[in-house]
Amino acid sequence: MNTVTLPKPPRVGLVSLGCPKNLVDSERIMTKLRSDGYEMSPDYAGADVVLVNTCGFLDSAKAESLEAIGEAIAENGRVVVTGCMGKEADAIRERFPDVLAITGAHQYEEVVAAVHDVAPPGVSPFLDLVPEAGLKLTPRHYSYLKISEGCNHRCAFCIIPHLRGDLVSRRPDAVLREAEKLIAAGTRELLVISQDTSAYGLDLKHAGWNWHGREVRAHMTDLARELGKLGAWVRLHYVYPYPHVDSVIPLMAEGLVLPYLDIPFQHASPKVLRAMKRPANDAKVLQRIRQWRGQVSDLAIRSSFVVGFPGETEEDFDYLLNWLEEAQLDRVGCFRFEPVEGAPAMSMADQVPDEVKAERFDRVMALSARISADKLAAKVGRTIDVLIDVVDEETGGATGRSKADAPEIDGEVHLRDAGELKPGDIVPVLVEDSDAHDLYGVAV
Ligand code: SF4
Repeated sequence: MNTVTLPKPPRVGLVSLGCPKNLVDSERIMTKLRSDGYEMSPDYAGADVVLVNTCGFLDSAKAESLEAIGEAIAENGRVVVTGCMGKEADAIRERFPDVLAITGAHQYEEVVAAVHDVAPPGVSPFLDLVPEAGLKLTPRHYSYLKISEGCNHRCAFCIIPHLRGDLVSRRPDAVLREAEKLIAAGTRELLVISQDTSAYGLDLKHAGWNWHGREVRAHMTDLARELGKLGAWVRLHYVYPYPHVDSVIPLMAEGLVLPYLDIPFQHASPKVLRAMKRPANDAKVLQRIRQWRGQVSDLAIRSSFVVGFPGETEEDFDYLLNWLEEAQLDRVGCFRFEPVEGAPAMSMADQVPDEVKAERFDRVMALSARISADKLAAKVGRTIDVLIDVVDEETGGATGRSKADAPEIDGEVHLRDAGELKPGDIVPVLVEDSDAHDLYGVAV
């Protein structure tokens, strides 16, 4: 049996010099790197790369910055320089030819990309909430917002609680402050992530915090409402269907939160879900999906499923297919079960042969592609809002996403004529055509 051994995340050391504005830049860069799966190193020795955020305001500050670069080179050797001194890249290179990359002040994307280049993040589908492509390409106009770390569940195939511990939620005011900063820096879409978004605040006993003069509880509904008031698209990922998820649906009806739910169901058969030890294993979930769609007709539901979990019989698998037919999910991801070192499911009896897993995977993908194609075809002729991700200079077209599409994991909307559009614009688009995963149209 093949097992998967997980890579260690790379570690970044930081030397932050200069004024509070520079410190805020450092925080923003580190927040991004943390959400990309990096760990921080408190010393030079443990770092895979050292980031020196320089200040060049006065000659004395420049001298201090150069000294800090020299020290980092001597102590570690793998150094990326950013900040105000980036303007003097030639002078830095002349004195320290071994510096790996130099970027200027406020160039978040460039400095994060430089760190990715010299110490690739080593994304693991078993640990990371953010898709690999998202890590490499996250542009300024959308941002992942992590609201908690760790998890109180103990799913049989997962080692997150073992590696990251039990749920630790961030204070709601800290999350909202970060969201405000991201939006001020150009973010148009916040992608709320955690291991278990519905459990947010449980460890804080859902206590209230002061936010701009009013109390906001550490609770998914309160946080989602407040995030929605900031004016960006708010997309909720990793939502387990606990009963209180029902109270987020009205926020979608009000337009505060995108009509989108990413619910990692993983299976439908009660027997397999029990064996997986999945949370919120609710027999009435189909009924609730119908009820949610009754309240928000455009609600897009995305989910992921595991096929070939130990003990999954043909009957369990048929149950899953029938359930998928019934649930009519908008987007479906599917994984073949892989035993991860350290997860209880690794040593479970009745492992499913690889060829059976492959065949079940194909059947889930074929069914979900058909459902997706039908749902997208029903959008032809409608006008929908699209957030532009990329403008293609060569073809003159653009690619974006509707409210139903998260970056990298869902479909896209292809515009045949970009006109004056630029990444981050939100425009109404007339849908002219569709296929199994994408829409095609023109801005109106
Ligand atoms: S809910 Fe289950 S799969 Fe998700 S992080 Fe927690 S233990 Fe892992």
